[in-house]
Amino acid sequence: MPASTGDSEYLSDLSPKDKPWDSHRAIADTVQNLYRSARLDKYADRIQTCGKLLEFALRSDDQGDVSFKLHSAHFCRVRHCPVCQWRRSMKWQAKMFSAMPEITQAYPTHRWIFVTFTVRNCDLVDLRAVVDDMNKAFKRLSQLKAFPAIGWIKSLEVTRNADTGQAHPHFHCLMLVDSKYFGGRNYIKQEEWRSLWQRCLRVDYLPVVNVKAVKPKKNKITDELDDIGQAIVETLKYSVKEEDLVADEDWLVELTTQLHKTRAIAIGGVLKNFLKDESDNDDLIHIEEKEEEPEIEENKINIFFGWREVIKRYRKQ
Ligand SMILES: [Zn+2]
Repeated sequence: MPASTGDSEYLSDLSPKDKPWDSHRAIADTVQNLYRSARLDKYADRIQTCGKLLEFALRSDDQGDVSFKLHSAHFCRVRHCPVCQWRRSMKWQAKMFSAMPEITQAYPTHRWIFVTFTVRNCDLVDLRAVVDDMNKAFKRLSQLKAFPAIGWIKSLEVTRNADTGQAHPHFHCLMLVDSKYFGGRNYIKQEEWRSLWQRCLRVDYLPVVNVKAVKPKKNKITDELDDIGQAIVETLKYSVKEEDLVADEDWLVELTTQLHKTRAIAIGGVLKNFLKDESDNDDLIHIEEKEEEPEIEENKINIFFGWREVIKRYRKQ
């Protein structure tokens, strides 16, 4: 029996899988304060209300094991809110994982490749224009005869160079290719990917492109993520690292302007048949695993956890 958690009032003790709530909400406090200090009260006010009170449904099984499931909460949906960014990425990952069996059934012999397309670092004030160029370049690339993917999902990540404050935008892209692509005449080597990307970007330098073939799923039940699982998580993670969000007030403010209403995730080709793009209508709450059994009202209790800003933990109300 877990000795330390029995009488704890804290969410992270009562439900260890919900530990990330504390750290994301703590960073949200920092982002909120940066927006406040920059007089962007509109964002600060919204983040201030985000996930402050969480209602969990609690269920115990015959063995007395208790499981927590988020029942309701309010989310602010600010683009760079650490809580919302985390929820959004979990939602996309869950969507992709649940679409995988259908995709595999429709394309049983196809394989995945995981490609990262980069450009040179740019000044943050140019980020919007650079991302726009990258999107146009990706469109050109996808229209080339040599483009091997029949479907793809791509996300934009922006990192911050700690020395120069410059931005490093790049795409993570998971692509579905015919198995004949490997070892066939149309196979594209890393160097060729780079020159194709250079051509589509219309730049005078050779940009870095990383390509990884994703190993087919093993027939083994294990808790560890397989290759495709890792690629899904990597593709559909945050778009800006939390440490980069809070490194510098001016950087956060300019980033917010530059990325305002830009697209973080895009789906193309046949994957459109399996994944709906509902980025304008984010339902951040209902992303957890499906109900496994019908609800038994007698066993159900809802409890509330409130955010305690001073100690940076969620505590039972
Ligand atoms: Zn939020």
